[in-house]
Amino acid sequence: MAHKISSSCVACGTCIDECPVGAISAGDIYKIDPNACVDCGTCAGVCPMGAISQE
Ligand code: SF4
Repeated sequence: MAHKISSSCVACGTCIDECPVGAISAGDIYKIDPNACVDCGTCAGVCPMGAISQE
């Protein structure tokens, strides 16, 4: 399982530095590499838009 970023993402960048395994990459909408994500949930807790949830 991995976490996923929805279209609610406003590319604020809050999550990217919080991921302990560097699974998040920047873009118009940020993305989580499902192969790198360890499903810790850290990013979901910091997203101000609530755009990150478990896949
Ligand atoms: Fe990174 Fe954890 Fe979010 Fe997965 S759930 S992208 S490992 S912070």
